[in-house]
Amino acid sequence: MKTTQIASHNLVKQINKSIVFEAIKNNGPVSRAQISKETGLNKATVSTMVSELLDASFVHEIGEGKSSGGRKPVMLYFNQHAGYSIGIDLGVNYILGILTDLAGNKVEKTLMDLPSPQLDDVLEQIHIMIESLIEKAPESPYGIVGIGIGVPGQVDQEDKILFAPNLKWSDVNLKKIIEDTFQIPTKLENEANAGAHGEQLYGAGKNISNQVYISIGIGIGTGIIINQQLYKGTSGISGEMGHFTIDANGRKCSCGSRGCWELYASEGALLAAAHKAKIAENVDLEFLLTEAKKANPVVLQLLHTLGGKYRSRARQYH
Ligand SMILES: [Zn+2]
Repeated sequence: MKTTQIASHNLVKQINKSIVFEAIKNNGPVSRAQISKETGLNKATVSTMVSELLDASFVHEIGEGKSSGGRKPVMLYFNQHAGYSIGIDLGVNYILGILTDLAGNKVEKTLMDLPSPQLDDVLEQIHIMIESLIEKAPESPYGIVGIGIGVPGQVDQEDKILFAPNLKWSDVNLKKIIEDTFQIPTKLENEANAGAHGEQLYGAGKNISNQVYISIGIGIGTGIIINQQLYKGTSGISGEMGHFTIDANGRKCSCGSRGCWELYASEGALLAAAHKAKIAENVDLEFLLTEAKKANPVVLQLLHTLGGKYRSRARQYH
């Protein structure tokens, strides 16, 4: 065979293998005959691909399925424990890390406070967290296959952080830093985009074509799903709606603009207002929610100002 023929032969094989793998992953337990019927691939091809997937530990065989007459077929299922992955949610004042199996099931969860948004400090905390999650991963054929990090800022098409106003970071190649340290493929995404994608795959967005995800923390982030795909725009930085100007003459924002939405409706806005009202020495969200339940009139007024929705909820506290 010529080189190009070998290349296309290998490509076809790869495609067929991934079709068979997807069929097992999405429909397992499933028999070889069912896979052949569902995918349109002939039985010999399915059989070869299944053997390779079994050898690679990506699928397992179990017992016997229902027979439609004759010998009962052996059933195949996806080995979700062939490897594990790490997910990091980098907040402005916290880092949340999880370890999941290949089906997205949570195995471990760790939460750390982030006392300072200084890049060096944050990098140190991220390293500690990733190392501890790697240690906690059960034995598996492939170990940790990937790390995904959601960050509160703009991430470009090359996974570089362009600007993270609330962390005061710009032009940080966090993906490269993590990959150089751990030698594990790493993916970076804006936290609201990652959240939108996660809800689309596993949560509230499942089976929904178009979805808007709003993440309200210290800032406000939004992720947009169109036709079940994450919409990122041509520059890769759509959905930065927390920095949408709602008051052109408003306060100055850390992004350089004025009157951004997140200055009025975020957790950061609530804490800033509480601080200004001198409610207590150390004010955090937990404290404000407890006070609201006790019908503290100043706190209720703050929540009232924060958003219309809080108004009806605050009334329930009376
Ligand atoms: Zn802004």
